[in-house]
Amino acid sequence: MNISYQSETDAQLLAKRPLAPAMLRGMKGKCPSCGEGKLYRAYLKVADRCEHCGENLSHHRADDAPPYITIFLVGHILVALILHLEMTWRIAPMVYIYSLVPLAVILPLLLLPPIKGAIVGLQWANRMHGFDPRNDDEFHSPKSNTNT
Ligand SMILES: [Zn+2]
Repeated sequence: MNISYQSETDAQLLAKRPLAPAMLRGMKGKCPSCGEGKLYRAYLKVADRCEHCGENLSHHRADDAPPYITIFLVGHILVALILHLEMTWRIAPMVYIYSLVPLAVILPLLLLPPIKGAIVGLQWANRMHGFDPRNDDEFHSPKSNTNT
């Protein structure tokens, strides 16, 4: 697919953004653009702008992807662990309740921020939604973005 640029400025604005570093920076909770500023202003609240480079981060539309991926991973970890424990040892049901239920609560809380950061980095690197400077659709403006 060929993309035609209206001017040299458009081509410069749309310079290729590396995907893997952007996702890794997001996973670390850093700005996908510079890797220095904080990505989050609260637990899962993405900052409107990077405090270091000024990149507008409010364009992200992570939506349900981070929880979906987190549930997928935690489910596979817990089911594999339960099957392993059940086939290896004879464990009382209360042991599962006291050990795996807290794990089922803690694991998603630990995994959500890095997974959401990776999704924001992916969207930034691929110029999805408002990260594309050519996209001036009001739907993608920072004011209409109510994501957390
Ligand atoms: Zn930055």
